[in-house]
Amino acid sequence: MDQMLQQEESLDPEDWEAMRATAYRMVDEAVSRLSNVRDSPVWQNMPDSVRETYKEALPRSGMPLDEVFDEIRANLLPYPMGNIHPRFWMWYMGASNFTGALGDFLAAILGSNLGGGNHAAALMDQQVVDWLKTMVGFPAGASGTLTSGGSVANLIGLTVARNTALGQQTIREHGVAGAKLAFYASDQVHGCHLTAMEVLGLGSKSLRCLPSRSDYTMDVTALRAQIAEDRAHGIQPVAIIATAGTINTGAIDDLYALADVSQREGLWLHVDGCIGALAAIAPKNGDKLNGLDKADSVALDPHKWLHAPFEVGCCVVKDRSQHVDTFALSQSYLEKEPRGVAAADWLHDFGIQTSRGFRALKVWMSLKEHGVEKFGRLIDQNINQAEYLADRIRMAPDIELLANPMLDIVCFRIYLPNMTDSNLEALNREVMLRLQEDGVAALSDTRVGSTYALRCAISNHRTQRRDLDILVEQIEELIPTCRSTLPGYEPY
Ligand SMILES: *Cc1c(COP(=O)(O)O)cnc(C)c1O
Repeated sequence: MDQMLQQEESLDPEDWEAMRATAYRMVDEAVSRLSNVRDSPVWQNMPDSVRETYKEALPRSGMPLDEVFDEIRANLLPYPMGNIHPRFWMWYMGASNFTGALGDFLAAILGSNLGGGNHAAALMDQQVVDWLKTMVGFPAGASGTLTSGGSVANLIGLTVARNTALGQQTIREHGVAGAKLAFYASDQVHGCHLTAMEVLGLGSKSLRCLPSRSDYTMDVTALRAQIAEDRAHGIQPVAIIATAGTINTGAIDDLYALADVSQREGLWLHVDGCIGALAAIAPKNGDKLNGLDKADSVALDPHKWLHAPFEVGCCVVKDRSQHVDTFALSQSYLEKEPRGVAAADWLHDFGIQTSRGFRALKVWMSLKEHGVEKFGRLIDQNINQAEYLADRIRMAPDIELLANPMLDIVCFRIYLPNMTDSNLEALNREVMLRLQEDGVAALSDTRVGSTYALRCAISNHRTQRRDLDILVEQIEELIPTCRSTLPGYEPY
């Protein structure tokens, strides 16, 4: 009884005006940091004292939010991954944007769960999917869903492909039950497809990774031969996974040729467009994506070339009924009602999440603010910058271009004559690490064919050509220093 009479609690602030001031402090800090990002290091290592703070035990009682924020300022904000910086070109991601951050904030204020329901956020979620469908040339009748990212978007597309091939009801009730299935991609395919095969219960060997051609696109002749061989062995071909923008070099598979094969063979065509599909909106480079609209499903990633803050990916599926039949569940605790909050389709019927975040708002706000044409121009700008960097590398005496860029990814290596392969690799790696540790630029590494390569992926709306000049100049400056650290080095 005593307890019942006590003041009841909530998480709301006791003093909303004080909270407003604290929130403004955070906005001020955010604007200062972002507007000065060019002058800050791309990345910096954390001192042990900072690392130690992340071992603190579970707080039992609270402290004022202003002090919490002081800790954030000291231990979190100075140590970002770096992808908001104009000279971050590692792996493959977007550079985020302030409007998108405000979108995430407002989405959280509403607390919306996009599993479904009759509310404005659900309509906006579907509107953003419709806009993305338009960008990749899919018809109005197609369906789609926003996901955590490209990996799940690909998993959704491949699941619909598998279920369509085996029959929805059979597979949903009995699973793959020993069916021998094959999917086809080039050896440049992203690793998430191997994971997808495993999650789908097929095993990663079900994905035929065909040797790519010299331009790193899928070899269509090899594809046809593999399909015939599989059929001859009683294996059922299911889907071709085309890549529009490979992770290594940005190569785009021949979408028309693959659409042709899929049609003749009665296979699903899924396009992994996480890197390149959105280039369809770029006025100068959009034609590189011709044929994308022939796909049965496309995975794309607004948190890459639309620079939405993480996370947001999208899978679009041309045959809406196959999409719904793959995932829709009818549960008594989730009945659709004729009126009220539950008078709407369930958005979780299009994927594997039940609760879904309101990731549409950050994309919606940026698209409304800038318009899709500007995003198209920014994509052209990145591709143009990749060509600029490739040209600078062609002229640099000690740097070798390893593939002609098709999109925004440039692979190269430092090459000095009379050095062993392992020393060349060590030299290149050392330069890459020094550039990161000096806070100058962030590149990643990969293999192009069998050659160890440095990789510059310019998916960054803040990058300017002068940043690429700095990159080349710094590499040239680092070569002699880094070379002297190699084993067996003899100055001459
Ligand atoms: C990034 C990427 C993925 C995975 O997408 P996430 O958003 O990281 O889950 C899949 N395929 C390709 C080609 C990618 O570049």
